[in-house]
Amino acid sequence: MSLTWEAVIGLEVHCQLLVPQKLFCGCPTTFGGVPNARTCPVCLGLPGALPVLSREAVACALRVGAALECVTRATSIFARKHYFYPDLPKGYQITQYEAPLLEFGGLDIDTATGVRRIGIRRIHMEEDAGKSIHTDAGTLVDLNRAGVPLVEIVSDPDLRSADEAVAYLKALHEIVRFIGVCDGNMEEGSFRCDANVSIRPAGSPVLGTRTELKNLNTFKGVHRAIEYEIARHAHVLEEGGAVVQETRLWDDAAGRTRAMRGKEDAHDYRYFPEPDLPPLRVDADEIAAARASLPPLPAEIRRRYVEELGLTAYDAGVLTSEPALVRWYETALTHHRNAKGLCNWLTTELLGRVAVGELETCPVTPAGLAELVALIDDGTISGKIAKTVFDGMFESGESPGTLVETRGLRQVTDTAAIEAAVREVLEANPTQLAQFRAGKVTVRGFFVGQIMRRTGGTLNPARVNEVLDRLLAPTDNRPDES
Ligand code: ADP
Ligand code: MG
Ligand code: ZN
Repeated sequence: MSLTWEAVIGLEVHCQLLVPQKLFCGCPTTFGGVPNARTCPVCLGLPGALPVLSREAVACALRVGAALECVTRATSIFARKHYFYPDLPKGYQITQYEAPLLEFGGLDIDTATGVRRIGIRRIHMEEDAGKSIHTDAGTLVDLNRAGVPLVEIVSDPDLRSADEAVAYLKALHEIVRFIGVCDGNMEEGSFRCDANVSIRPAGSPVLGTRTELKNLNTFKGVHRAIEYEIARHAHVLEEGGAVVQETRLWDDAAGRTRAMRGKEDAHDYRYFPEPDLPPLRVDADEIAAARASLPPLPAEIRRRYVEELGLTAYDAGVLTSEPALVRWYETALTHHRNAKGLCNWLTTELLGRVAVGELETCPVTPAGLAELVALIDDGTISGKIAKTVFDGMFESGESPGTLVETRGLRQVTDTAAIEAAVREVLEANPTQLAQFRAGKVTVRGFFVGQIMRRTGGTLNPARVNEVLDRLLAPTDNRPDES
């Protein structure tokens, strides 16, 4: 892209709400299953079936609004959005249009030039459509997904690059997972994104004509599609052409977008208020409850980890990559407050062996790991022995304290015992001792290795070095030898 262009991007994100039942009926929302088994007259769109709004889904949407600092409308309206598609049995989708539940929010993202707030224009509730499955024999329709509750989170056109768009999307993805309103599974379509892209001469206040990109189901895909589209727009404009407002599909394999259909204008959908549903009223108590139910958000946790626990930004980022990791880590911290030590053992040793999803069932518990770090911190075991203990914890599920005692791994700091071990090694290796005395100082390392091996690494290394140096010193400096 030539330097004179500025990209403008706005994202529309569909998030499947983590509630057990569909938006307007009692059918389950679980993914997959026998096609069309999770349906009823309401979600099949049979004539005469009436929708009943799920208040649980509303409560869930209110939590999204609270996390994104939106204004909640006391009265919002459901509307019919008409279009024909085989997987939309009613011939319209129930959504919100003129009076959405939530508006005027924002989300802070980290950009190359610092933290920027991206406006959230609106968040509305709507039902999902079914799924068309294209096969060689024809297209099949599965309506298990029809009626599943979604929120659509629409940003302002505040993003200026593919990097910023991905930063925003990741921040949003993280928040909805942290507050437990969405499983964030992009492969199963629980979190999907459309990107609107336009460009304009840098400094221009006027928005250019946009294209809408669909089929973006990975962060990488979002990034590549936006970059591609920005370059395509620039090329079209520099050739003297005009960008056509349209919906385009990202073809990940080919690495390009292609036209899918002309972009509808709102009037094409013939929106009108849903006559089968009363206006949605939300009172101040419900809004307050949503706010009160929010856990700390990831950005705030990261700030606290850096400022209060002294972790690096990198470590804080790793720990907050998953809500389950934060819970595990914070439980461990309640047992032993060595933030850095616990973080290292958790992120390198434990996550080197199990996935985050397996932490809950893993034999190494938060209390167990905390005990291990405490044993290192109070000098009971060395860091090296701790790895042996950790192996034992992982294999047997026993506590580190038990393992240290039953396997005799307690670190020896007693000088007399260490001295006895050192003398034993020196006496057992007269040849090497003679070499050392003759000036071959590298033999010292051999002694250390022998001492540690004989004692299974349980001797305090610093004390071993002290004692060894003393016993290897020239004879006239050795007070205890005659
Ligand atoms: P719809 O796509 O349903 O017609 P909107 O017009 O409200 O809805 O816009 C949807 C998204 O497109 C929003 O995220 C908005 O920020 C973004 N958007 C609107 N105009 C532009 C533009 N000219 N360039 C880039 N993004 C835009
Ligand atoms: Mg749109
Ligand atoms: Zn149903």
